[in-house]
Amino acid sequence: MYFIANWKMFGSLNSLKSLDKVIKFFKNFKKNTSSKIIYCPPSTLINPMFKKLKKTPIQVGAQNCHENQNYGAFTGSINTIMIKNAGAKYVIIGHSENRQNGETDKLINTKIKSALKSGLKVIFCIGETLKEKKKNKTNRLLNKQITRGLNKIKSKKNIIIAYEPIWSIGSGLIPKSKELFETIKFIKKKAKNLKVLYGGSVNPKNINELNLINNIDGYMIGGASQDAKKFIDIIKKTYI
Ligand code: PEP
Repeated sequence: MYFIANWKMFGSLNSLKSLDKVIKFFKNFKKNTSSKIIYCPPSTLINPMFKKLKKTPIQVGAQNCHENQNYGAFTGSINTIMIKNAGAKYVIIGHSENRQNGETDKLINTKIKSALKSGLKVIFCIGETLKEKKKNKTNRLLNKQITRGLNKIKSKKNIIIAYEPIWSIGSGLIPKSKELFETIKFIKKKAKNLKVLYGGSVNPKNINELNLINNIDGYMIGGASQDAKKFIDIIKKTYI
């Protein structure tokens, strides 16, 4: 199981102290060595976090990247080589908060190619708006995001998909279990059995309900991941 902490635009050098609890917990957590914890902080914290987590099995990821793999005159941006160089192993691409800021499927596809070329693993986000869901357009939209996002990518072994319905992010709402099961099944069929995570308002209160859905390969956790206790609780409840 994957547990991806998306810190979004939160966190300071001081907040790295909160990782001590998670490191201690994971050290004593022998039950499931196959579980993977990945922290995705803002770019300013990638390297300090990497240094802190270096001797632990916890890995670091970036939250976005520039599409151009080469260096260049792109003020304010970082490319996938820089992300790798800072110690990250993963990068989130296609998060709805960036899609809403104008990221197209085509741009996302270029970013994914750049990340794979630089040796990063990709957490590829897809998901529908409430309007699309209400119009029963979810599968059509996901199909389009997957087809275009993964266009002409031959080896997909370093890609995992995070299904994050936009209406669920930060709202406290999660999809109905049956619906979520069916959507994940649809994504897996379309994406030829890539791992599929669920993201959107995952917290210690709803994790038991989510864990009953047996085709989810892990979770992407935003708000609750900034609180070490809540994050640990989510992991514990997944296994105990
Ligand atoms: C996210 O933004 O990726 C996310 C899952 O957020 P939250 O858990 O806060 O809904």
